[in-house]
Amino acid sequence: MKNVAVIGAGTMGNGIAHTFAQNGYQVQLIDIAEASLLKGLQTIKNNLDRMLAKEKITEADKEATLANISTHTDMKNGVKNADLVVEAATENETLKLKIFKDLDEFCASETILATNTSSISITKIATAVSNPSRVIGMHFMNPVPIMKLVEVIKGYNTSEEVLTSIFKLSEAIGKVPVEVNDYPGFVANRILMPMINEAIETLYNGVAGVYEIDTVMKLGMAHPMGPLQLADFIGLDVCLSILNVMYDGFKNPKYAPCPLLVNMVMAGKLGVKSGEGFYDYSENKKAEVLAKQFKK
Ligand code: NAD
Repeated sequence: MKNVAVIGAGTMGNGIAHTFAQNGYQVQLIDIAEASLLKGLQTIKNNLDRMLAKEKITEADKEATLANISTHTDMKNGVKNADLVVEAATENETLKLKIFKDLDEFCASETILATNTSSISITKIATAVSNPSRVIGMHFMNPVPIMKLVEVIKGYNTSEEVLTSIFKLSEAIGKVPVEVNDYPGFVANRILMPMINEAIETLYNGVAGVYEIDTVMKLGMAHPMGPLQLADFIGLDVCLSILNVMYDGFKNPKYAPCPLLVNMVMAGKLGVKSGEGFYDYSENKKAEVLAKQFKK
């Protein structure tokens, strides 16, 4: 495999594009919004500059990585030579089904079609494609250039050949692939999201504030980041959508999203990407705790 098309230039898409490009793959980064492509490319440049400053890469590595990335708003054009497509568009089932229907039409029959979905069924997404054996989940973690894990999700019809290719490819870009079956939340989010939801519930019940909850989990459990700040990084809309998929999929109230999470998403407080979540990320208040606002 040489050519990789990445659909969506947001938080995950730009990180996935960065990682493949840095490992010598030709990357076509595709987004419906030109502004997202510009922002995604700027994020990649900033992250490469940070790596350069830490002497993890050279100036030549940075230039080579950027030279390996082309951007497109026209998906048909962007995927035409792809050996692999990694879809990392907005977490929405209808949208993903439409994208995979188009990929079925635009891509060569041997192109592997992967999705970075956090929670939507791979088997369901594969129904949009005439040959579902080439559809697989490739669940990268945020921030992609740094995090080692790729949760590789085998849909009901995913072939062993496709699974083997994705394992080899993940290793070739310096990641550690782990095989997982296709059930709501897979493994990572099935365990992580109830913890995040419980942290929000603890805040909602007035047991403790944002700073206190995150500090307990950081210093008491040796987590590198508290669950509320992690939720801000993931995106509160993404957390809500994953919890809803698990709630619907298992019909189990233990996955019901906390009303405070629902309210914050409705109010447009999505975390880092909107500038405010449980913390304030505006320029002059980098990650200042908004504890008072939520404390009862
Ligand atoms: P995001 O909102 O940051 O970015 C989504 C991008 O998709 C946007 O730039 C948007 O313009 C683009 N887009 C929407 N429709 C499109 C289309 N039809 N064609 C091309 N581009 C389109 O979202 P994100 O956080 O990067 O999440 C992307 C995917 O990755 C989701 O499926 C999400 O569940 C998953 N994921 C997210 C995280 C995380 O920590 N944020 C972690 C793992 C997986």
